[in-house]
Amino acid sequence: MLNLKQDVQFIKGVGPNRVALLNKLGIFTLQDLITYYPRDYEDRSKPVKIADSMDGQEVLISATVVSKMTEIPTRRNMRMYRLIVRDDTGSAVLTWFNQKYLKDKLKLGQTYNFYGKIDKKDGTARMNSPVFEEEGKNKNTGKIVPVYPSTYSLSQNIIRQIMENALKLVDNSLDETLPDYLLEKYNLLDINTATRLIHFPNELRDFQIARKRFVFEELLGMQLSLLSLKSKYKVERCGIEFSKDVKMSDVINSLPFRLTKAQLRVLEEIDGDMESKKPMNRLLQGDVGSGKTVVAMIAAYKAVKCGYQMVIMAPTAILATQHFESFTEILSEFGIKCELLVGAISKKKKEDILEKLKNGEIDILIGTHAILEENVVFKNLGLVVTDEQHRFGVRQRKIISQKGENPDVLVMTATPIPRTLALILYGDLDISIIDELPPNRKKIDTFAVSKGLEERVNNFVKKQVDEGRQAYIVCPLVEENEEINAKSVTELVEKYKQEVFKEYKVECLHGKMRPKEKDAIMEEFKNGSIDILISTTVIEVGVNVPNASIMVIENAERFGLAQLHQLRGRVGRGEYKSYCILKYQGNSDVIRQRMRVMQDTNDGFIISEKDLELRGSGEFFGTKQHGLPEFKIANLFEDMPILKMVQSLAIQLLQEDSKLEKPENERLRKFLQDKFIDGIEL
Ligand code: ADP
Ligand code: MG
Repeated sequence: MLNLKQDVQFIKGVGPNRVALLNKLGIFTLQDLITYYPRDYEDRSKPVKIADSMDGQEVLISATVVSKMTEIPTRRNMRMYRLIVRDDTGSAVLTWFNQKYLKDKLKLGQTYNFYGKIDKKDGTARMNSPVFEEEGKNKNTGKIVPVYPSTYSLSQNIIRQIMENALKLVDNSLDETLPDYLLEKYNLLDINTATRLIHFPNELRDFQIARKRFVFEELLGMQLSLLSLKSKYKVERCGIEFSKDVKMSDVINSLPFRLTKAQLRVLEEIDGDMESKKPMNRLLQGDVGSGKTVVAMIAAYKAVKCGYQMVIMAPTAILATQHFESFTEILSEFGIKCELLVGAISKKKKEDILEKLKNGEIDILIGTHAILEENVVFKNLGLVVTDEQHRFGVRQRKIISQKGENPDVLVMTATPIPRTLALILYGDLDISIIDELPPNRKKIDTFAVSKGLEERVNNFVKKQVDEGRQAYIVCPLVEENEEINAKSVTELVEKYKQEVFKEYKVECLHGKMRPKEKDAIMEEFKNGSIDILISTTVIEVGVNVPNASIMVIENAERFGLAQLHQLRGRVGRGEYKSYCILKYQGNSDVIRQRMRVMQDTNDGFIISEKDLELRGSGEFFGTKQHGLPEFKIANLFEDMPILKMVQSLAIQLLQEDSKLEKPENERLRKFLQDKFIDGIEL
């Protein structure tokens, strides 16, 4: 029987070196490999006549070698090898660099297939470093070949060869995951044909048909699991009915500011959930600075005054500490006891906290991942809040919820996404939105500048710092390569430290640092001993440094708009006029339009819709920053029609067969169980 979980090392052509490279791509098993889908295809199937080929076009030509290979020394000890080939319409000059072995390989008078980019600028057809093989061999030419996403040091040829071997091994014996009646109804390819065609399509349109099947499968899997979670929360579980006698207004009236209408509306929704018997399972979306924390605090007040404990989990120690400070400031007056649990505290302190938590002396626990640990036990946990939900998964949410008996759960996120999409993607949650900022907010002035204005930008930063403010400088994150990323930041830091800002205290922060180092630097920035903080996007999440008034973003064109917006939200948190400077390169229309959106609006929802429109969801959702489920193949922008279709299908399926127990749905049930290791219980 076919074992899809077998290690890639057992595939023909994969030795230890290649195993390591495949692992780097996240490919460990046969299954990982065959679901490593191409990002594009090259049509090398039909030769084009040399005379008909167009400048810049990637083409296959079938031509005969009519000259000897000549060797031409070039600059820097490079050697160029040149060859002339001809078909019945004309000739072409082919060149390679430093590939001496080609001399004996390409024989005078032989006909080969050559695939490459045609250059016809000076009237002569040229091709540099074409792929070639003898006519009729059809290994890398004479067909449509897949182009895989990133490959590190594996060449496309090698990865293709490995893929071919893997598919031979699979030998059309994959188990079907979708019931026959669905394949038929939605006109989908069976899994074996689709797998073959998505890697090696016979015709270009084959891959579309194959892709549709996988998109359908992926999205249906997501919808079924989300919906079944949701119905589970709704129907089976009986939650806490918090008392109507405890009024949120008591704490609201003690705040130093008035809540916005949006905050009040959201609180009413939360209050309703808390008082009802059904456990709350709600997503709170709100732009950066819209005041979500205070909402959580008011809900916490209610939970505690009703006799329950509350926990709030934040993605970083800095954020947790920030929450701890603001909670304590307001809630201690009401005799509510808050504690902070982060990885860095002493063993003794930790034991003390755990003890008091268990016997109910602590009302509110604020912390990081540390609170997921097994020894963190509550006396009677009634309300769970997770901040910046995209850093945590469904699984973590579940772990903390299980520390209480069906506690109410509130998930907060500052990643605004269009409501229609939120409804689909967060199928397991009810949604509340804070769509209004507190009235005292000053608009952050945003300027997009191209490279030429660098010096003026630097002077502007100096001027702000001289006035006592602090600055952030952010560099883009190259997702695939943390090493390059760390390097580019380090280089920039050196330049800024040694030259540009040498009179100032400049420090740097990047993802390769240990959490402790990061926290230490953040702390120094918070207390003002660092003037300028250079970093990758690690500062993105909710950090509050009111004295920081300027944010410079390098290569802003490489960021998603939603992400730029998040970054910008790090400034303008205090009384000072704040600025965001987007340094960008390139002058395509899309780049300019995107920069304009950032200059024109501070509204996160508008920005996220524009982001979708201008980038397409491949990129929009590609970044982990977005907090949306990551898809192997589906693209939420292009595949919206399929998404809508599977959503109604999923609803219908679960209505008719809530546990997918009917024989015709057996494959689906198994598919979901295999896919979600935790076993999303149906
Ligand atoms: P976020 O939604 O990004 O988590 P926060 O809750 O951190 O926003 O709020 C940002 C700041 O605004 C905090 O200092 C908070 O005290 C303040 N704030 C919240 N609500 C209001 C309001 N209605 N009026 C004035 N200030 C507010
Ligand atoms: Mg926040």
